[in-house]
Amino acid sequence: MATGKSPRGSATPKPSRGSAATKSAAKSAAKSATKSATKSATKSADALAVYRSKRDFAKTPEPSGAHPERRNGKLRFVVQKHAATQLHFDLRLELDGVMKSWAVPKGPSANPDIKRLAMQVEDHPISYNSFEGTIPAGEYGGGTVMLWDVGTYTPEGSPSANEDEDTAQAAYDRGDFKVHFHGKRLVGSYVLVRTRGFGKNPSKTSWLLIKHRDEHARPASKKDLVDEYMTSVTTGRTMDEIAQD
Ligand code: MN
Repeated sequence: MATGKSPRGSATPKPSRGSAATKSAAKSAAKSATKSATKSATKSADALAVYRSKRDFAKTPEPSGAHPERRNGKLRFVVQKHAATQLHFDLRLELDGVMKSWAVPKGPSANPDIKRLAMQVEDHPISYNSFEGTIPAGEYGGGTVMLWDVGTYTPEGSPSANEDEDTAQAAYDRGDFKVHFHGKRLVGSYVLVRTRGFGKNPSKTSWLLIKHRDEHARPASKKDLVDEYMTSVTTGRTMDEIAQD
């Protein structure tokens, strides 16, 4: 392996546009990296290649995630309400320097009897956690995005805070990702269960998002989360108010 030739071993890799040569170089760099910090930064940059390839950052106000973002404290999550062609909610969980992302058509439910389809989508940059605004019509995901909830999560069964990331990674890899959300709206224990490849495109994986029975569970007789909370958790705006800005 030509370890001396890799241009991607530095801490500030260029944003990848997803060319085969760049991907190959990134893979090679990731393999040759011995320090976990270097490996993580390189992997994160490569992980966002799909995200970047779908977007024109001259046209969309979304973050490019050009610089690898490192974990700072607890693992973060965000839920965004997204009025794209089809209204849906995007659930994103921080893992390995990116936000693992799922499109949840009906949004999370706090009723343990309800299983919500969660289609995995491309990893997003951590800076996406503060994105609220409108993606122009005609661009990828065009439509208004609301910050519906922001907080941290703990993977279930983690022996200590130091081991949260490893525990989360193992659970994610197994496809049995049990987490405790510490949000304002999304609170308590949930599981993401991987079920199968989705539709015609097997690269899209479908999962189910299910509430566990705990003190934060809601019975069917109580209004569910997405019907109760209709405004931005950070700005208090409605979807219409965000769209008008
Ligand atoms: Mn979306």
